[in-house]
Amino acid sequence: MNYYVKFSPEDLEKTIEDIFLLFFPNDQIRAWMPGTQCHFEINYKVNDQGIAVEAISHWQRKIRITETRKEKEYEVRSQFRRLVRLTFYKLMLKLFNEDPKPWGILTGVRPTKVIHRLLDNKLIGKDLDNYLKKEFYINEDKIDLVKQVVQAQRNLFKQISKDQTGINIYISIPFCPSRCLYCSFPGYEIKKFKKRVANYLEALKREIKEFYLAAGCLDVNVDSLYIGGGTPTVLSTPQLEELLYIVEPYVRRYNIREYTLEAGRPDTIDMEKLHLAKNYGITRVSVNPQTMQEKTLGLIDRCHDISQIHEAVALVHKLNLKLNMDLIVGLPEEDTQLVTDSIEKVINLKPHNITAHTLAIKTASKLRKLEVRLPTPIEISKMHIAANKILRDKGYKPYYLYRQKRILGDMENSGYSLDGEESWYNVMIMEERQTIIGFGAGAASKFINKDNYEIHGVYYNPKDSIIYEQRQNLIKDKINLLCSLLKEEKRWQ
Ligand code: SF4
Repeated sequence: MNYYVKFSPEDLEKTIEDIFLLFFPNDQIRAWMPGTQCHFEINYKVNDQGIAVEAISHWQRKIRITETRKEKEYEVRSQFRRLVRLTFYKLMLKLFNEDPKPWGILTGVRPTKVIHRLLDNKLIGKDLDNYLKKEFYINEDKIDLVKQVVQAQRNLFKQISKDQTGINIYISIPFCPSRCLYCSFPGYEIKKFKKRVANYLEALKREIKEFYLAAGCLDVNVDSLYIGGGTPTVLSTPQLEELLYIVEPYVRRYNIREYTLEAGRPDTIDMEKLHLAKNYGITRVSVNPQTMQEKTLGLIDRCHDISQIHEAVALVHKLNLKLNMDLIVGLPEEDTQLVTDSIEKVINLKPHNITAHTLAIKTASKLRKLEVRLPTPIEISKMHIAANKILRDKGYKPYYLYRQKRILGDMENSGYSLDGEESWYNVMIMEERQTIIGFGAGAASKFINKDNYEIHGVYYNPKDSIIYEQRQNLIKDKINLLCSLLKEEKRWQ
């Protein structure tokens, strides 16, 4: 259904759209036009004295909320959209008689960026807490979590070179053994698309090699490499070796602090592949069980069992590689007891890094169409509180987090690590403090100015593997963007 909002003076439906979707997840917001019903009204005034916002509901029952702030003129411009969002949010809470949501109006993917900006503006301690509570409506648990994350990140940021642009490279292998129930990643099941692998690898190797050659004269360092997907270890051993061989020159030329291989499905790992990975410079491997409950693994179509998780982890430890493991909170039919049991079992496997995702019901997933029992927002909240406690008690500290659309309970995904074992790549991709160059189908590149962290440009490789293979200008475009970021003459005409 369409809901119409009458704005005055200007239409701001994009400003409040994500707040609207928190309360009307299956509906659409539209700016009111003559001839349509007026469900809500937002009036605002911005001048040198401050901001005044009024939100009115004409739908179900008449309610009015007003908010005013006396801000200095320069602050007004940046604050008035936030105040419009906050006023509308409060109106919705009152209309639906709901408790505030954990993250309040901080609906974006990267809540930490807002906190970093406030800290950069010297808002600290209790003043920061009060500001987050009053102006964003974030609850105390989340304030506590986000402050710990931000603190850990600021310690890592000190290691970013001020003199030389650091870049991080992502390599996409969009193939998987099967499709997990909750997945919306535009990848290919290897059984059905086996014939595509060889051509895809050729195109990918070309991209990796051409970038290496073209970047040779640029003053950059590759700080981290990440082979992800999909499930890169679904490649055969010779195919994996071909890929690692092409990447190896980067390992030799640059001062690489971290080189990760995603081996998400334990059934795709064996000693031969891991040996190879280590010999070509891999330092970190991700093995992602998602749950340690046999029954749930079957429900989510993972096609492997718990014993394979144990075997894969034992191989990673045997080779002294760093280990990342991912879990999902909120999987079908799981309760708090099963979630905490999985977390304890994963901790016993001694990973350096554990990421606790929250299930998100993605539009393109098979899960969206199924009738399964999912936890309520209250249950999800309890699961997170319990998970957080166990992880912290065992020495794992939160160091990165992000949020997604349609995430259960309006929660977040958060990464924990043992002291000093944080994944550089995870932080840089989420916090946008360094440039990321993506190779392969669907890979995104983001060019970040090292002096002010502004996004200089973005570039998306085609998602479809065949269109990707045929695209001509991938490296030329990326090198030219990198040159303009570095204020160098274009190297590739
Ligand atoms: S392993 Fe990851 S990318 Fe592959 S289907 Fe499962 S969730 Fe999707």
